[in-house]
Amino acid sequence: MKGLSVQIKSAGYCTASESHAISGGSRKSIKFYASYAIIHHPKHGLVLFDTGYTRRFYNETKNWPYKIYALATKVYVGEEEELINVLKEEGIDAPEVKFIIVSHFHADHIGGLRDFPNATFICCKDAFEDVKGKKGISALRKGFIPNLLPSDFESRCRFIAFANAEINDNHLGPLIDLFEDGSILLCRLDGHAKGQMGAMINTEPKTFLVADGAWLKANYTELRFPNPIVKLFFDSWSDYKNSLKGIHDYHKANPETIIMPCHCEESLMKYRS
Ligand SMILES: [Zn+2]
Repeated sequence: MKGLSVQIKSAGYCTASESHAISGGSRKSIKFYASYAIIHHPKHGLVLFDTGYTRRFYNETKNWPYKIYALATKVYVGEEEELINVLKEEGIDAPEVKFIIVSHFHADHIGGLRDFPNATFICCKDAFEDVKGKKGISALRKGFIPNLLPSDFESRCRFIAFANAEINDNHLGPLIDLFEDGSILLCRLDGHAKGQMGAMINTEPKTFLVADGAWLKANYTELRFPNPIVKLFFDSWSDYKNSLKGIHDYHKANPETIIMPCHCEESLMKYRS
């Protein structure tokens, strides 16, 4: 689509064992970058896909029980990496951002939401219902830190209901045409988190943002699943497998499409701009 472009960037990272991210992986520690995308839409202006970490993570995990999150996941993020500051460097003020697609509600995706006072949040109704009102341990179980959401979050949401989808992809299932112009198609990638959404951006070639639908490139190219130990904090292992199979099959049928798993260092280094 003319005038539509995507920039891939990252804000912070945590570390994890490669053997957890992919079956047969080595025991070495790898960086899980918290990437996000800045989509430039010819009519709607700036649309963000996720926001990465911000230093709010440190503040919000100082006390129990959220401290458990910080102890389990060592997070590194600097002021200059935060999305709001990256935009500032590019001459863009946060209030200019009108839309933020929230793939799911884990802390490494929603860290910057409070920085954008004029944004409408686009998320799957099921994803929000899964975390709504949760606090303490029950929030933690969902990888959710409630204070990362702006207090008026719900009133600024545009919920996506896939039951109303008019498009069906052979591999990805129902698709929602966000702006009804073919620029951004949203799909469900359940399993890692309930109602997780991916976004297909109609650039040339297409750019498919799959969030945590895959962690590493080899997850979807070779259909290699993570170590089953990660089931502990996934919403549904069987849904995850279905979603990853969908991405794998889509990739086989559309090898030219750029696929960006949020945390994949190799993909980030290749596509970041
Ligand atoms: Zn996640």
